Amino acid sequence: MKITDIRATTVTVPLEAPLRHANGCHWGRFVRTVIEVETDEGLVGLGEMGGGGESAEAVFRALKAYLVGHDPARMEEMRFLVANPTASLYNNRTQVLAALEFACLDLLGQKWNVPVCDILGGRLQDRVPFASYLFFRYPNARTGTGEVRTADQLVALARELKAKHGFTSHKLKGGVFHPDYELECYRALAEEIGKGSPLDSFRFDPNGVFSTEQAIRFGQAIEDLRNDYLEDPVYGLTGMRRVREKVRMPLATNTVVVNFEQLAANVLDTAVDVVLLDTTFWGGIRQCVKAAGVCETFQLGVAVHSSGELGIQLATMLHLGAVIPNLSFAADAHYHHLTDDIIEGGPLRYEDGAIAVPEGPGLGVRLDREKLAEYAEAYRRLGGYPYDQDPLRPGWAPTIPNNRWADPSDSRTPPGTGF
Ligand SMILES: [Mg+2]
Repeated sequence: MKITDIRATTVTVPLEAPLRHANGCHWGRFVRTVIEVETDEGLVGLGEMGGGGESAEAVFRALKAYLVGHDPARMEEMRFLVANPTASLYNNRTQVLAALEFACLDLLGQKWNVPVCDILGGRLQDRVPFASYLFFRYPNARTGTGEVRTADQLVALARELKAKHGFTSHKLKGGVFHPDYELECYRALAEEIGKGSPLDSFRFDPNGVFSTEQAIRFGQAIEDLRNDYLEDPVYGLTGMRRVREKVRMPLATNTVVVNFEQLAANVLDTAVDVVLLDTTFWGGIRQCVKAAGVCETFQLGVAVHSSGELGIQLATMLHLGAVIPNLSFAADAHYHHLTDDIIEGGPLRYEDGAIAVPEGPGLGVRLDREKLAEYAEAYRRLGGYPYDQDPLRPGWAPTIPNNRWADPSDSRTPPGTGF
């Protein structure tokens, strides 16, 4: 089989409400680039990337010259062709490689009539559990609903998502308001949800913006709760190591262990207990499986990170989750904040807090052409958005550690997204 063409289509798909985070905000929608890798055998493989609010079409167009004529089975060679580590000093294409790898695995699965997880060693589980992934949210400008700014609103959203999707693990994305305020919110979440469901667990992630001392204070103040882990309380392995000395719970990261060099450093002088693997950040599903093997060897925990996903990327997370024996935590997904998807059959469904691993050949998801066209048109109309800016705080530059927190009494609504 030979690659004959690569097509990239940028789409923007609405969120229920703008999602706030330590660096800015998802402004009420995601922007994702969907790729289709065509072959001389008529098969088309799907990939997806995005996350920063911008289109990545241009880079895929440029890579056509590298990949037309390449056999999609030769993925290890493609890794060096597209993202050779020394060439990457100039052109870092790790995320681009990931999208291409998804498409190549999808192609091979279709050719061999097996799901991607069978190529990766075969499934150990048929369903992957997910956490509820709660965000502080601005209100949706069109409906005026969806705001999460207070502890009561946070607990209400957690209850709603638990009732709807069956989540038993709950993650709060923090780093938006002062740590003392977020501590109150997190404790309220764990205590209120834990009252009715004492086996539910919780995790908190301020995206590395606390000072080491704030992180220690925060960590010690939640030690009595049923925490999965404390995720990226500070930025950097050395800071994490200092927090780990003083806080009695596992620390997790998707920020400072995102490649094999950092994983080796963490094995040699441990700073992090749980590594959140991201099929995009690590450069593909296969790289994540390799990293999970290293974690298994050194008995580090593994979870699955979400960098924001539509159904194609979600399928990569499901196939990854299906094959790694040491996946000891519920995976993260932004998915339930979206109002729609671009795959046939509509959004994949949660059942009892888990999503079934697709059973069809390849990734097991196919494009809904009408939806793709609809959301590509929306992107042409609306363009990108600055993921690392806040619509209501123009010019705001959060520092690390941060002390420029948002004001929890500010109840303004940002302008609408255009949907
Ligand atoms: Mg994180």
